[in-house]
Amino acid sequence: MGHASPILDAAPLTLPATGGERLRDGHGRLITDLRLSVTDRCNYRCVYCRTGNDGAQFSELPLEEYARLLRVFVLLGIEKIRLTGGEPLLRAGLLDLIREVATLKSKFTPQPIDIALTTNGHLLAPMAQGLKDAGLSRITISMDAVDPETFTRITRVPGSFERVQAGIRAAQAAGLGPVKINCVLLRGFNDGQIEAFAEFSRRESVIVRFIEFMPLEEDRTWTPETVVPLAEIVARLNRVRPLVALPANHPSETARRFTFDDGVGEIGIIAPVSQPFCGHCSRVRLTSDGKIRTCLFSQFDHDLIGPMRRGASDAELRKRIQGIIEKKEARHHIGEPDFLKPSRSMVHIGG
Ligand code: SAM
Repeated sequence: MGHASPILDAAPLTLPATGGERLRDGHGRLITDLRLSVTDRCNYRCVYCRTGNDGAQFSELPLEEYARLLRVFVLLGIEKIRLTGGEPLLRAGLLDLIREVATLKSKFTPQPIDIALTTNGHLLAPMAQGLKDAGLSRITISMDAVDPETFTRITRVPGSFERVQAGIRAAQAAGLGPVKINCVLLRGFNDGQIEAFAEFSRRESVIVRFIEFMPLEEDRTWTPETVVPLAEIVARLNRVRPLVALPANHPSETARRFTFDDGVGEIGIIAPVSQPFCGHCSRVRLTSDGKIRTCLFSQFDHDLIGPMRRGASDAELRKRIQGIIEKKEARHHIGEPDFLKPSRSMVHIGG
């Protein structure tokens, strides 16, 4: 690959002589979707994610190490890469990493690698055009309330609502639309906003995706009662206007898609708690400290950075990744008596 990028010039890569196998887990699921956390720092303190304290230790790898790992994953058939965090826009050099990923090509599909980003949007307005120009395909912006006061109560950062609105507008202007808006519903915090979000989707031409709250928060406040389940969201939206189901874009799509009876607006509902979709899971995660997580709810991480730094070749890394993916969990056990909270919280895993 003819790279002119500062990242790979700093870390020349060895291409395998022969093509690798596609990644498939022990349950026969094809793994095509990688989420990379480029930092576990965040500038928000969302109540459903982080503690209010500032004392945490953070860990990040040099971007060239992420670039090399991404390259190895693409050789294994990864087609979609989502950059996340922590807050990915805090990461210096992010545009270089996106430019780098945009040069990668899959042997298994003629399509370019789909590069997506999940952000809280706080720093987005001045960066949106640069992200698009670097090669970003799609963007998801987290926004947990349409009402500024409720929003600030969740993020615990004054002025955050206006910053995120500016970020959404800038992303649309930069051609990163249709923008997806992620809203984690928390009973007692923002479940009163469901109807307002329906109007927001219709008015602003964004896809609003409601996410059921999962037990991945630092403060360990999750109980089944805090979850607003899919059935309740659907019932509430139907009172705004009748909902019409839309077909899935992809078999492993996490969201159930809907529009309204006039075709205006789009709503997604991601219901890992009340309607798990593990059977179609195509995802694997790489934490900001270079560890594979085969499931959000894993009890263990699998280190890649140690072997890489000790000199493992790309072929050796591919073999290690294949061995780890082979043992991917069949499903999560949220809500079951044997459920164990995962070893890390969302901000440290990468959402
Ligand atoms: N900072 C970025 C952001 O705010 O989008 C990216 C990281 S954040 C961890 C990724 C996504 O995970 C966000 O949409 C966030 O709302 C979601 N999330 C965090 N904790 C969650 C939880 N306990 N249950 C469900 N979703 C959660």
